[in-house]
Amino acid sequence: MKSLPIQIKLTDNRKEKPNPETLIFGRNFTDHMFVADYDEGKGWHSHRIVPYAPVSLDPASIVFHYGQTVFEGLKAYKSPNGTVRLFRPEENMKRMNLSLDRLCMPRIDEDLALNALTQLIQIEKDWIPTVEGTSLYIRPFVIANEAFLGVSPAKKYQFYIILSPVGSYYKEGIHPVKILVENEFVRAVKGGTGGAKTAGNYAAGLKAQEVADQKGYAQVLWLDGVEKKYVEEVGSMNIFFKINGEVVTPAINGSILEGITRKSILHLLRHWNIPVAERQISMDEIRDAYDNGTLEEVFGTGTAAVISPVGELNWDGYKMVVNHNETGPLARQLFNTLTNIQTGNEEDPFGWIL
Ligand code: PMP
Repeated sequence: MKSLPIQIKLTDNRKEKPNPETLIFGRNFTDHMFVADYDEGKGWHSHRIVPYAPVSLDPASIVFHYGQTVFEGLKAYKSPNGTVRLFRPEENMKRMNLSLDRLCMPRIDEDLALNALTQLIQIEKDWIPTVEGTSLYIRPFVIANEAFLGVSPAKKYQFYIILSPVGSYYKEGIHPVKILVENEFVRAVKGGTGGAKTAGNYAAGLKAQEVADQKGYAQVLWLDGVEKKYVEEVGSMNIFFKINGEVVTPAINGSILEGITRKSILHLLRHWNIPVAERQISMDEIRDAYDNGTLEEVFGTGTAAVISPVGELNWDGYKMVVNHNETGPLARQLFNTLTNIQTGNEEDPFGWIL
């Protein structure tokens, strides 16, 4: 890892840490943040760790108008012996560069960004909660901060990393959720920005989520944007189906975000010699599998929940109750294995922890 001369200015005003038993996602932030600036012709410069504070931006900044921004999400854990554990952070930096390229934004140096992240985490390590299920959520992001109302890539950017202690995703442990298959709105289309982690994708998904909420569903299942026939993702997670002993997940096709949890799960399944396939999968195929009794498990995967079992799929009023609305054995095994590696309760045989 390259080291980076980072200016460090520590705060004199440390915040009180929240109660780890009652943490909610994304509401509390630590004492410091990382910032770097980019100017065309000069590249990235002025890398610094400073007290966490509001940001001052010109109201004409491109990010406010045309959404030129990307972000990442990953977690740090503290092991039982007190060491800091980051789960596959190099994968997040790699994905951030894919997103930056797609949005015509300047690439970051992945090694330097990792170095900045580890320095920031060292300063904030007392903020990593240790109660079961808790962690320190890491949010790197880049914004276009040039003041210009023309629609063109900015010439000025800022890269931030902020940190947020977060609670257990499931208050009563892992449990199945109800999912509404979305037939009207779409999240992304081929050739669009679905494969990048950019703000507009999430803003575009809010309306469908609002409707699902009102109907009593936890998330929506996104279908392809052309025929509304093939499965893409669930909420902001990737999706897996276990059908007749084989685990199937939609292939990466340009409109699906390639999750790091997805990648890790595919690795584990292959390591365990469980048959897996990355391919197109249609709702017709899922309904047929349900009807003939071979739809064994369905689960979403992502950094926030790790594994989120699906207990019910509602497709245009046709309700499919999966595995009697209980967490399936494969979902549980994957959840236990991944979380044990993340938290250090189990060895890391794959070199996933930094
Ligand atoms: N899809 C979308 C749209 C997401 O926002 C996320 C969360 N980053 C994922 C999938 C899962 O990705 P990961 O496993 O890297 O968290």
